[in-house]
Amino acid sequence: MDQKFLEEMENFFNERLEDLDFYQSTYSPVKAQGGGDIVDQLNAEVDNAFQLKIKKRNSAYRQKLIAAMEKIQNKTYGHCEECGEEIGEQRLRARPTAQMCICCKEELEGIENSTADSPQRVLSFSAKNPPTSWSATACEQSETKGLSEDWKKFVG
Ligand SMILES: [Zn+2]
Repeated sequence: MDQKFLEEMENFFNERLEDLDFYQSTYSPVKAQGGGDIVDQLNAEVDNAFQLKIKKRNSAYRQKLIAAMEKIQNKTYGHCEECGEEIGEQRLRARPTAQMCICCKEELEGIENSTADSPQRVLSFSAKNPPTSWSATACEQSETKGLSEDWKKFVG
């Protein structure tokens, strides 16, 4: 991956983290005033539920940002966690925390949407040791993946 692009993404992640920290520091549960009427109490409850929801979503996003930054550090950022192929700058600009190339992502979503297969089956093909010597394209690789548990033997 292009060093300049990586630096750009790292800056982007840093800024997003600062945004999240800022939001987190302004988070405060709304307390219904003692003696307030039922509408005040309900409003406070709704506000709190809403803030809690955002807080949860932010903390999930925060995890993704941190994971992406760690990947930049250990030079795995921008590689698909499934097939090990480069995800591509264009996709990363659109989805900076993308973990998979578009082929693997679509395949996974297809399987998640069907009840016939379990997503674990696909997820078990970890890209911890991506098969970098393959000459097949990412899409071709992802096609071979679902065929056999014994996929290494199958393709090699
Ligand atoms: Zn992939």
